[in-house]
Amino acid sequence: MNDIHNLIAEMTEWRRHLHANPEFGFEEKATSAFIAAKLREFGLDEVAEGVGGTGVVGTLRRGTGNRAVALRADMDALKITERGALDYKSRNDGVMHACGHDGHTTMLLGAAKQLAEEGGFNGTVRFVFQPAEEWGKGALSMMSDGLFEKFPFDEIYGIHNMPGIPIGHFETKAGAFMSAEDNFEITLQGVGGHAARPHWGNEVLVAACALVTNLQTIVARRIDPADIGVVSVTELITDGTRNALPGTARILGDARSFRSEISEHMEKQMRVIAQGTASAFNVEAQVHYTREFVPLLNDPALAEESMAVATELFGATNVRVASKPMTGSEDFARFLSRVPGCFVFMGNGMQSSPLHNPNYDFNDEGLIHGMRFHVGIARRRLP
Ligand SMILES: [Zn+2]
Ligand SMILES: [Zn+2]
Repeated sequence: MNDIHNLIAEMTEWRRHLHANPEFGFEEKATSAFIAAKLREFGLDEVAEGVGGTGVVGTLRRGTGNRAVALRADMDALKITERGALDYKSRNDGVMHACGHDGHTTMLLGAAKQLAEEGGFNGTVRFVFQPAEEWGKGALSMMSDGLFEKFPFDEIYGIHNMPGIPIGHFETKAGAFMSAEDNFEITLQGVGGHAARPHWGNEVLVAACALVTNLQTIVARRIDPADIGVVSVTELITDGTRNALPGTARILGDARSFRSEISEHMEKQMRVIAQGTASAFNVEAQVHYTREFVPLLNDPALAEESMAVATELFGATNVRVASKPMTGSEDFARFLSRVPGCFVFMGNGMQSSPLHNPNYDFNDEGLIHGMRFHVGIARRRLP
């Protein structure tokens, strides 16, 4: 028991060190050096740095088993200025661990230490620390750097803390769990001119406003009501000024879905509506549509396994099947598009500020639970 208390104290220290020294995506140099040093100190068999930029992969082998399980944490912080008066507040101005990736990294380090010391599994555990989760680029970057070829594994698991779920509680579900995120930018091109003589030019603002409204019909009228889709226009920027009508307007936004068919359908409808609206106003439209995050699909059998591990460790009353998927996105989905696995939410407490809020802080009481979940998964999946 004493050992566990020591580990909790150590993890709390690591977590606060990481919190005070946040780094933005692909800039996690000090963070990855800290992680690699710890993994070496724990005596892992291999520690690889610079995987896909700033990623780190630790490997631990025990016994004769030839299966491998990957446990993953993200390391990056956000460009948010931290509020609040924590004594371990961010020392990197304008950058903050507002999503709890400091906690995720720490829980995985704790699990690496525990598994290196005590074993209890037969096979290979890969500890995957990925950069740039918030960008939705870190997983792909590790994958194109040969993650699966150089450090093969059969399954992968990850945890995200969640405000509004009690500490020590776990939640996940089979199948679609988190959404895809697409971004779009529609440019309308007309002819600007004098605000007093709109008929001499062919301004774009009225067309842009009509288009913003028309885009709402994609979800309302073009998607099966039983499916989930979100189309949000987040910016409308023109080159107009006080007494001059704009000749160019840019409409930017974000679309979410849980199936690639829906994402494709939303893009197709967006193109139809943009062209139709533009031609009604005699302006030109150009649509630029990109896919930033893919939907996160948990393997049904491994979601069951994850629930079984959490139930065994924390009791059935602390484990819940999520009633519905959520429309947040998560870069972990990229790994799941190649190997089966499961992503789970872990409570950050009922008092926690929301994720990405300047007052948010990872709850250190969760560290032990996340650490034990990782260890439990490795042992159950590599018996
Ligand atoms: Zn985040
Ligand atoms: Zn996050």
